[in-house]
Amino acid sequence: MTPPRQEDGAPKRTRPRGRRGRRDALRPPSWWAAWAVSLAAPAPLILLLNTQLLAPTRDLILYDCGVAAYTWWLVSVALSTRPRALDRRIGLPALYQLHGGLGVLALLLASAHVLNLFTMHPIIYWSGRVAWYLAIFGAVYAALFMSGWLVDRLPLAAAVKRRLGRFLTHEASVWIHRLNFVMIGLVVLHVHVIPRVSAATGFVIAVDLYTLAALAVYLWGKLIAPAAPSRQGTVIANTALNDTTRQVVIAPAAGATAYEPGDFCFVTFHTPGLPAQAHPFSVTFAPEYARASAAAGSPTTASPAPLVLTIRGAGDFTSQLSRLPVGADVALEGPFGRFNRVIAAEDRPLVLLGMGTGIAPLVGLAQAYAASRRVMVLHSVSRPEDLYYDDVLSSLARHNPTFRYNHHRHRYTRADLAALLDADLLAHGRFVVVGPAPAVLAMRHTLRALGVPARHLLDERLTM
Ligand SMILES: Cc1cc2nc3c(=O)[nH]c(=O)nc-3n(C[C@H](O)[C@H](O)[C@H](O)COP(=O)(O)OP(=O)(O)OC[C@H]3O[C@@H](n4cnc5c(N)ncnc54)[C@H](O)[C@@H]3O)c2cc1C
Repeated sequence: MTPPRQEDGAPKRTRPRGRRGRRDALRPPSWWAAWAVSLAAPAPLILLLNTQLLAPTRDLILYDCGVAAYTWWLVSVALSTRPRALDRRIGLPALYQLHGGLGVLALLLASAHVLNLFTMHPIIYWSGRVAWYLAIFGAVYAALFMSGWLVDRLPLAAAVKRRLGRFLTHEASVWIHRLNFVMIGLVVLHVHVIPRVSAATGFVIAVDLYTLAALAVYLWGKLIAPAAPSRQGTVIANTALNDTTRQVVIAPAAGATAYEPGDFCFVTFHTPGLPAQAHPFSVTFAPEYARASAAAGSPTTASPAPLVLTIRGAGDFTSQLSRLPVGADVALEGPFGRFNRVIAAEDRPLVLLGMGTGIAPLVGLAQAYAASRRVMVLHSVSRPEDLYYDDVLSSLARHNPTFRYNHHRHRYTRADLAALLDADLLAHGRFVVVGPAPAVLAMRHTLRALGVPARHLLDERLTM
């Protein structure tokens, strides 16, 4: 049945947006579990404190606020190591959301603690105060410069970030964010110097154990695990696809974790002349296609499939990649991503919508599902030279009767999509949208307006 049309030729919305749409959003049970476990993490410490310390109820509640805030900061530290098992269950954006959400909740409770308790003891006072100031600075800084939440929605915040971006690079921001460790040290000092609290020995030991556990997870995730031989690789090809975009092929070392179509990795090139920074890039080809296209560099099908990356020169680091030599050492973190997991678990037709370089993870998904599903690939580009995977996608369309491929100069409008997508795709399709964050947000809005349920939409925003 054709959906009713509006004057602009687009079908009318078939379901209301707003609260109902938000409830539809994809929230796997693991998402609720991750939040529940994180929120409950302070409970043992609070229990110990409340049973070991005699104080008026009001004061105990305010102490508990401080304990909860501190524990959530520790959980945030552990989450900053991007645990892969959690990423596969809830996705990296949701993991960062949890990291940031706990940070904000912690700041609120810490504020209640600091503003309502009083001490004349200078060390207790200043350790608490400075930790609190650092927490406020850290939260404001992260909201402006590290999370896309404000920047993707507010042009003013985006302009401020762009202006300061020359000095405050992503790497500088990561180092500034590490001031949180100074804050953690100050809180530990704070707890140890309050005589009544330090007398509650069980509680103080438990706080120290929590702190050590979080630091151990962090050191393992950031220093020890990355050095594992199975996380290394070698560049086996680096070719220009056009004047702004390159294809870099990496052969991972034996024992590397196999990636799935649509995944992404954090990649660090270790070669003179290039900064050793970890940047996220999607894996373009599905593993078997990557093996076939790099057959010369991958002698047996038993070795891990090469990673074919499509990298646009977007800034300081990516625009230097023409200098990346074949044979350069690479450190890989990942693979991350949930596209393939979600798609494999259901039997929906696929609509893969890539904007610019956003096509990168979608090519692999198209290859993986071309023969078994109804698939429509839509690629919007600002100039024809950016259709670098035109031959790959056209070939899939020629060989698979239920595969459609369309490309478009500039972003698809609502009317374009209404003409391309039939009622079955709009109502039942699994939509995967990838591109720059503001474009993805706008496209989600357009698709929702066309009646696509929020729970059928997956996206990846190429900023972090
Ligand atoms: C999940 C994901 C998958 C991606 N896949 C691709 C891809 O397949 N091809 C592609 O060309 N680009 C991809 N990107 C974007 C790519 O990571 C950035 O363009 C690149 O890191 C920019 O680095 P730069 O120093 O050249 O640019 P800059 O001008 O320094 O940065 C541009 C923007 O990229 C982001 N960024 C910079 N450095 C990092 C970093 N180390 N980690 C996270 N974000 C950073 C920041 O939001 C920054 O505002 C992807 C991004 C994400 C989040």
